[in-house]
Amino acid sequence: MDNFYAPGKNHLFVPGPVNIPEPVIRAMNRNNEDYRSPAIPAMTKILLEDVKKIFKTTTGTPFMIPTTGTGAWESALTNTLSPGDRIVSFLIGQFSLLWIDQQQRLKFNVDVVESEWGQGANLDVLAEKLAADRTHTIKAICIVHNETATGVTNNLATVRKLLDHYGHPALLLVDGVSSICALDFRMDEWGVDVALTGSQKALSLPTGIGIVCASPKALEATKTAKSVRVFFDWNDYLKFYKLGTFWPYTPSIQLLYGLRAALDLIFEEGLDNVIERHRRLGKATRLAVEAWGLKNCTQKEEWFSDTVTAVLVPPYIDSSEIVKRAWKRYNLSLGLGLNKVAGKVFRIGHLGNLNEQTIALITKQ
Ligand code: PLP
Repeated sequence: MDNFYAPGKNHLFVPGPVNIPEPVIRAMNRNNEDYRSPAIPAMTKILLEDVKKIFKTTTGTPFMIPTTGTGAWESALTNTLSPGDRIVSFLIGQFSLLWIDQQQRLKFNVDVVESEWGQGANLDVLAEKLAADRTHTIKAICIVHNETATGVTNNLATVRKLLDHYGHPALLLVDGVSSICALDFRMDEWGVDVALTGSQKALSLPTGIGIVCASPKALEATKTAKSVRVFFDWNDYLKFYKLGTFWPYTPSIQLLYGLRAALDLIFEEGLDNVIERHRRLGKATRLAVEAWGLKNCTQKEEWFSDTVTAVLVPPYIDSSEIVKRAWKRYNLSLGLGLNKVAGKVFRIGHLGNLNEQTIALITKQ
């Protein structure tokens, strides 16, 4: 009975991996080809220019690494920092927790700033730390823009303002895995030094490309960063960029064609329109949750996420039962509550390839 799969179309409402648009599926349905032929480098060159647009950067250098968000994290950290470096990192949910775990395992000296799950990063504590750090021992600030476990969006513009206010040179490393291509994100304007995302989120591709974008300051930092890195070494990529062949190892050909098609769709709609669509559908989801008489796990409106809503269930209900039942009975995939909020919330993903009709499927429950 546990393997029973309900009839009808699967309604995928987890906050990644998300539904893939038909033109993207079709673009990926192709044979392998020689990535050293002239065709793949020519396509890669244009893709590298085009992915900069989703980060809103003109000065950043992108890397399209065959990996997931977790690998993109590792690439950001190991290319810019050395073991023992002091970093400030905000713990607000499962994904920031996992990133902090990675930071600690890579032997950085992490100042963990913890908030209750459902709240955003505590930027008052950041201000205190920056004010006290006159000798600039803090080398980087690591922050998850959108915490997918709780549906909390952090205010990156304020982080930048604080760094500027205290004249602090720390690098700003941002996980944009469930934000980039869906939420307002401005790499250059906010002085983000490394921004990263994963292909299975708002880009609406299969899992498998971690896109990382480095500012000139982050590239400079690689020269002194002593962390061991091999697969993720940006210098290997840069060497091949210079040669015009672009790839230090085999890329996923199909995913590159998929990325081309995904970017074409985003640019045709207009990135700002894509962001506006997410704002509208995020709000619609929250209104529906309110109408069901349920509460949002996110405690204040300023942190509401337009890509994922974590819905609190009454204490006498186990939210994982709701997820299980939705899947069995309606072929509807909702996100489970993770770690501290397991059993307490279920999550509705509203990012990537979706429109009003798609959202109506779930909000009319
Ligand atoms: N960061 C955030 C905000 C995420 O939501 C996720 C995954 O859901 C990750 C990082 C990890 O990405 P991946 O599972 O692709 O390694």
